[in-house]
Amino acid sequence: MTCPLVMTLEKTARIARCSLTPNRPYHVQWMLTRKCNYRCKGCSVWGEQEGNELSTAEVKKGLHVLKDLGVIEIVFSGGAPLLRDDIDEILEYASRFFVTTVYDNGSLAADKIETLRKADFVAISLDTLDPKKNDFAKGVKGSWNKSMKTIETLQKEGISVSISPTISQLNVNEITSFTKYFNERNIPLWYCLYSYDTTVDSDQLFRIGKENEELNIADKDAMVKLCDSLIDLKKKNSNILVTSKLLEAIKHLYLHGERTWKCHALQNFFMIDHLGRVAGCHLRKPVASIFNLPNVWHSPEFNELRKTYNQCTQCTYLCYIFYSLHGSVLGNLQIAQDRWRTARLLLKKNSFTSLNSAKQT
Ligand code: SF4
Ligand code: SF4
Repeated sequence: MTCPLVMTLEKTARIARCSLTPNRPYHVQWMLTRKCNYRCKGCSVWGEQEGNELSTAEVKKGLHVLKDLGVIEIVFSGGAPLLRDDIDEILEYASRFFVTTVYDNGSLAADKIETLRKADFVAISLDTLDPKKNDFAKGVKGSWNKSMKTIETLQKEGISVSISPTISQLNVNEITSFTKYFNERNIPLWYCLYSYDTTVDSDQLFRIGKENEELNIADKDAMVKLCDSLIDLKKKNSNILVTSKLLEAIKHLYLHGERTWKCHALQNFFMIDHLGRVAGCHLRKPVASIFNLPNVWHSPEFNELRKTYNQCTQCTYLCYIFYSLHGSVLGNLQIAQDRWRTARLLLKKNSFTSLNSAKQT
């Protein structure tokens, strides 16, 4: 069984070199497709599906551009990226240079084991240990069962699987026990925070977050308590992939309504859509094609956009906050330290613990 975390020396050296180089983006999220087989309550994608997307050759060409730009980490999402027929080829190619993560809603990954061996991390979305509640949030009956079986299969197969719950009003009081449950089974967690798209640019890159009353976090005290408990849990084990710095920033936001960070969109991170268009975040308008980078990266136009995004306070998407907080050379080192600790932990894991004792209804 090959562990995907065994990186080539060339890739390790490149990541180390890029981590120490200032003024280049750390993270890219590439939304490879706008097709999806789920119907999540807080998402626009499934209602606005589109078949057009870049070809395999174009994606590979784009990956070369990202390599030249000094990008370290790529998250492949969508839509459902595993719906692409060429996902195997894309992951194999991308993982030669970048730390790669691929997202799945839990319905497709179990049938793509050999493909997923080519990624460094696989993130499965699952929001709760309550099957009915999960199925409600995902809009698909049986989604909870599918995700749990997928997680079990991936772990058994030695794939570096992590769980990605979206924290919302539906589960804010359960996330601590949810985290402990998977921590005990040696499965790491990376959280998302329910947020919805507001208009910052009318022609935004990629509509995702749909407003939903039931998901909106109204109980701010519960959110503060959750941050405290995750900070505490993080001290005891390294299966929580977000940093304490991020959790402290979220706690401060919910406690005082103030941001302790400036947004670093189009600086530390940016997004690419299924058509190869580039934007600072998915709520911003496309400002280039992937094929115009890296030349425009240092242009006066991009510098002006960065200043605007720097002042923006329109969203609380957790990954944008994370990469805004951790974009400097020091931030890169903090992420690297966290990641390597996790990598060591995953490499050490040797036994599968059944997930089937979770609550069944
Ligand atoms: S959140 Fe993800 S899995 Fe759910 S409908 Fe949207 S794109 Fe699909
Ligand atoms: S805060 Fe940053 S990531 Fe969020 S909408 Fe504004 S520019 Fe985009």
